[in-house]
Amino acid sequence: MSDATCARCGSEILKGQGYAVYSEASTGTAADRRVFFSAPGPSTAEAGDVEHKLLDAMLYCEQCANSLFTDGVWANAKMLRIEMSPEDVSSPSGREAKAEVIDFSIALRMKRLGMAPPQARREARAFGKLWWTDQGSARRRLEAGDPCPNSPGAQFGPESAGTGELQKNGKAVASLLLGILSLLVFSLAGFFFPELKQRPSLMLAACVGLFAIWFGHVGRSEIKLSRGRLKGKWVALAGLILGYFMVVSYIMTMIPSY
Ligand SMILES: [Zn+2]
Repeated sequence: MSDATCARCGSEILKGQGYAVYSEASTGTAADRRVFFSAPGPSTAEAGDVEHKLLDAMLYCEQCANSLFTDGVWANAKMLRIEMSPEDVSSPSGREAKAEVIDFSIALRMKRLGMAPPQARREARAFGKLWWTDQGSARRRLEAGDPCPNSPGAQFGPESAGTGELQKNGKAVASLLLGILSLLVFSLAGFFFPELKQRPSLMLAACVGLFAIWFGHVGRSEIKLSRGRLKGKWVALAGLILGYFMVVSYIMTMIPSY
């Protein structure tokens, strides 16, 4: 395959180089013949749009990757729709506006997949390499939101499914530790301070339990969003059970007949 061009700025990308990214933005012609770019796509379609095309997988050059994978883009990324006259599309301001919509759409998707800018950049680069050897597979994986088989730290692939080095979610671990701590607080408070009645020590344990619950839920949702990049689902569940157990136990002491 010969060299490619950057989908964002049109500059040449040498063989083996580039960052493959996926955009859910769409472009097309609005009713009044103006050209529109919208992210994330069909959901921002308007009545009367003449044609509609999803941008999907594309290759970015080094320079465009530098402006895409930043904390600023990650923080500001939002859904938006812009329209311009066909003549303005190739003007500097038109190109800039278009690039922003597309950058946002890429960042929104990668954020949803649980990636921060540095990780997203490594992943896009890994896909950029795959792009040159097997573009079909790169496109399919990007579309499905699957990790790149040769991305550092996440070896998936059909042969090595699940055997790669997975990262454990820190909040899941924190949830379990806090759950255990709440049990300890309850039992140790009664042991060292026998004058302390059951209810105050349960209240203290329940407070720790609340943190276990919070970390457990946030951890589980992060793991779910990471689509296989993070593990710790059951660790977080254990933390949740301990946390809820303590909180429910405390609530039961408030029932008068208890
Ligand atoms: Zn470029």
